[in-house]
Amino acid sequence: MKKGAVELVSVAKRYGDTTAVSEINLFIEGGSYCCLLGPSGCGKSTTLRMIAGHEEVSEGDILLNNRNVTALPPRQRGTALMFQNYALFPHLSSRDNVAFSLKIAGVGRAERRSRADEMLKLVNMDGYADAFPEQLSGGQQQRVALARALINEPDVILLDEPLSALDPFLRTRMRAELKRIQQQLGITFIHVTHSQDEAFALADQVVVMNHGCIEQVDTPPGIFSTPRTAFVARFIGGHNIIEGSTRGNRLQFSEERVLELPTTKINGHGQPSGASLRCDQIHVGHTPTDFSTVNAMNVEFVEYQGRYVHLRGRCDDGLRLSVFQTDTDYLSHPVQEGDTVYVGWDQQDLNPLYTAPNG
Ligand code: ADP
Repeated sequence: MKKGAVELVSVAKRYGDTTAVSEINLFIEGGSYCCLLGPSGCGKSTTLRMIAGHEEVSEGDILLNNRNVTALPPRQRGTALMFQNYALFPHLSSRDNVAFSLKIAGVGRAERRSRADEMLKLVNMDGYADAFPEQLSGGQQQRVALARALINEPDVILLDEPLSALDPFLRTRMRAELKRIQQQLGITFIHVTHSQDEAFALADQVVVMNHGCIEQVDTPPGIFSTPRTAFVARFIGGHNIIEGSTRGNRLQFSEERVLELPTTKINGHGQPSGASLRCDQIHVGHTPTDFSTVNAMNVEFVEYQGRYVHLRGRCDDGLRLSVFQTDTDYLSHPVQEGDTVYVGWDQQDLNPLYTAPNG
């Protein structure tokens, strides 16, 4: 097992009658970048804080490097938590903030100084060692907070919505920095976010949570191309969700209409409760074309988005679809509300959805 591996075994957290996290199982490989993704209140921060040891578990075990750390205080776990508000000491310089825990541990001044300066260099803050937090921008304060979390050479860094306070430009820049630092150091990063863009850009492994449960664990392309539940498909966006009843691979979504789901995607996964279809995998024609599934769609909504154009409409058989058309296709034959277009897709692009996360 690689250093920095984290395992949650039936971990639950209850606050009185509220279940914040309900018996989750999760394995995070050492040296990987893991994002806990989900809407507000789904239990991400509680999970992170339990791994850090800042929150007791109600049930279950937490293993770090195969060692049960459930009962250990935060400083004995080999983890470091970077708080959302950075929590820097206002009266200390960047260097002294970063070196603070070394001072408490009795490390001598010269070594503290040189290790703190090394960490500030790693986060591109070497020119700001003597600056105080109030003299730094939000993004700079965050780098100092990251350096402070890294100085004790933890096996696992835990980050709670680290980019949410930054403006969109800085957020993208800092995101790339986080990835660079994680790869350079090769330590495990566990990062809480409600942004699918952020999770997709950063993670080796995305954990999608909903109501205290894990809905899906996969790579970013795995989550995007094969969402397992309607919740995941809705949350990541860009998918149509077609609900109905299934028998074998036949999905009945209206009284007389049936879609055939690709059998190769169903085997061994239980009975699907619907299907998802990516908005960008639907083709738009202006005359009936020869796709295996073709449907006349009355266009009810057209929205220009730059790289693509969002069309929404209702098909003859009652199916409501959202379609992302490339701007080139759109501009070569602009569609307006009220027009009829012919939509089609490859049957293999239909993705079965299940009600239960685990089948
Ligand atoms: P997220 O990080 O996904 O936004 P949290 O882990 O913060 O979600 O919260 C999960 C659930 O637990 C929410 O319903 C929240 O209200 C509840 N919760 C979190 N912390 C406490 C607490 N200290 N006391 C009571 N309920 C809490």
